[in-house]
Amino acid sequence: MQPVLITNIECQITRPDRHNLVVVRIETDRGVFGLGCATFQQRPLAVKLMVDEYLKPLLMGRDANHIEDLWQMMMVNAYWRNGPVINNAIAGIDMALWDIKGKLANMPLYHLFGGKSKDAVTAYSHAAGETLEELFGQVDRLLAEGYRHIRCQLGFYGGNARDFHSTREPTAGAYYDQDQYIDNTLAMFKALREKYGHQFHILHDVHERLFPQQAVQFAKAVEQYRPYFIEDILPPDQNEWLAQIRSQTAVPLATGELFNNPAEWKDLIINRRIDFIRCHVSQIGGITPALKLAHFCQSFGVRLAWHCPPDMTPIGAAVNTHLNIHLHNAAIQEFVAYPANTQHVFPGAQMPENGYFYPGEDAGIGVGFNREAAAEFPVVYRPHEWTQSRLPDGVIHTP
Ligand code: MG
Repeated sequence: MQPVLITNIECQITRPDRHNLVVVRIETDRGVFGLGCATFQQRPLAVKLMVDEYLKPLLMGRDANHIEDLWQMMMVNAYWRNGPVINNAIAGIDMALWDIKGKLANMPLYHLFGGKSKDAVTAYSHAAGETLEELFGQVDRLLAEGYRHIRCQLGFYGGNARDFHSTREPTAGAYYDQDQYIDNTLAMFKALREKYGHQFHILHDVHERLFPQQAVQFAKAVEQYRPYFIEDILPPDQNEWLAQIRSQTAVPLATGELFNNPAEWKDLIINRRIDFIRCHVSQIGGITPALKLAHFCQSFGVRLAWHCPPDMTPIGAAVNTHLNIHLHNAAIQEFVAYPANTQHVFPGAQMPENGYFYPGEDAGIGVGFNREAAAEFPVVYRPHEWTQSRLPDGVIHTP
């Protein structure tokens, strides 16, 4: 096969709506270019620097055909490896190389992977309210849009902590009270089941805000409401505690959006400590490692629910749809509606229809990137407040 030489690599950052987004564009001597998502919304400049200053010089003039070799080379080239900056930069290039391969083969990405394993990918979206009435309003809207899987949150992550018992001079931060969160969330589950029965599957994200034994108690108490899954019941550095939860409840557990490397997920999968893996595809390094992780999970009965929040590009989201329609153990795909500017910057952004995703049929990933439009929306750098999470006594806790 003739080589396809890499002639240029560009990394562009943009903030069309609420989030800083990072896009990699690779050009080749065949006139075909590819696009990838390298979004690390809190540190976009660091990823751009990694691509522009380190990966571009490494890859210029190389053959874009050999994605596996280029991926392995990028991962070990700095000797020190992994981490969100390096992995997102590699992922942007990896996705762009897969996009190029699809365009040259004139196939949508999922055909390159081996075709479909299902008719459509089940979608879920988010409902959240400060009060139950507000939450019910959002659930009603999503049910009317065709969703049968809805992530329900009362208040922000960790619940609604307006009335917590504060200190004399609280340090600024996003406060929450774990006991209030548990009480309010269990009341939310009860109210949802009383009002809606089992009309839809309830998903819920604890967002790693409990201490280990609180997590065991919460998991046991929520099991009766049959959630589809409970997400991030513990922070990744406390995942050994999941064994205790598994021994005491059958509540389905999902985790993984913060994972960077196989050392973090191997044990959880082999020992069947989780039901769903939630890795963020660009955070683990792109399509190349995602396919390997998916097949590894399949051997152990672990299903896939890739993280797919609004702080990634529609290019990255479309990659998830291609992976999910192909992979037999892919269970569900997250979706939060794209605001108007994002749709303008990323023509062809895919949206679910009546609660299901259908992959695009254009060659490659199938989502465009309007570079001129993106340039009109510069990135905004600011300290992130929601990640400054604190408990009532003012101590920092995982966000
Ligand atoms: Mg989450």
